Amino acid sequence: MTVAHIPLVGLNHGGPMPQLGLGTWPLDDDEAEGAVLAAFEVGYRHIDTAVKYGNETGVGRAVALGGLDRDELFITTKLDGTYQGADRAVAGLQGSLERLGLDHVDLLLIHWPLPARGEFVSTWRTFERLLADGLTRAIGVSNFKPAHLATLAAETSVVPAVNQVQLSPFTPRRAEREYAAAHDIVIQSYSPIGAGGELLHADPVQELAGRHHRTPAQIVLRWHVQQGLVPVPKSADPTRIATNSQVFDFELDEDDMAQLATLDRGPDVGIDSDVDGH
Ligand code: NAP
Repeated sequence: MTVAHIPLVGLNHGGPMPQLGLGTWPLDDDEAEGAVLAAFEVGYRHIDTAVKYGNETGVGRAVALGGLDRDELFITTKLDGTYQGADRAVAGLQGSLERLGLDHVDLLLIHWPLPARGEFVSTWRTFERLLADGLTRAIGVSNFKPAHLATLAAETSVVPAVNQVQLSPFTPRRAEREYAAAHDIVIQSYSPIGAGGELLHADPVQELAGRHHRTPAQIVLRWHVQQGLVPVPKSADPTRIATNSQVFDFELDEDDMAQLATLDRGPDVGIDSDVDGH
């Protein structure tokens, strides 16, 4: 069995974080337990879950069964709208820690900004307290646009370590990446292989897969890591879990990257977190 050596990336606080993680949506507890154990076996140490996924108990069981040193692991969870607001976030994280069987997580994310609710700033202030109390090693956001991040920057003091956004060659999220680069925020890519759909069949992806003797998913995941992004591909299949992590031992050249850049569908495609979210 090939074990991937996944490099670490530094964060502006907390961290470091393995540059590739396992996504766990939409796995249930039993499926998540199996997938996370399979991932540990082939070298993953970074796992992405959320209250909303309903599988933190399964992730926690895998962490306990895996027998790995807690310091090697990087566990992320996210609080959705149910837990936005100054007080609810405390109970939200407590529930997650109980289900995960942990005394801290490595990264706690606001799952969606839900700007119409107007509560992400007060939620963030509570996150700052949870960070100071050691219940999470880092705090971050998900689905935040630059305008949401600018509001946080104006009204709070801790800069998010991470912004996790829907990102692939179809939706490269240039504005989010520019803001992140300017403020020392790491971008995590969710749905990094386009949710396993059309993207993997696109001509440039197929052509490069043939030329590099790699799977289409490996080509796309290499595109992420080569740009310093941190993808969290989901798979429940042990073979795919393994191959998806083997993207640190080959390179795409400038022409390859230029071919993949042709897949950009523009800034108006994909999830719009001024409207979407839960
Ligand atoms: P994804 O990781 O891009 O794609 C997952 C899909 O691709 C699954 O159907 C999977 O099926 C398939 N797949 C995996 N490896 C493959 C391979 N090598 N070849 C072909 N197909 C493959 O999409 P995602 O699940 O939407 O996103 C990944 C993770 O991001 C989620 O699990 C979740 O942790 C996170 N996420 C976060 C948010 C947010 O709002 N923050 C939103 C969505 C997702 P198999 O299981 O059968 O392999």
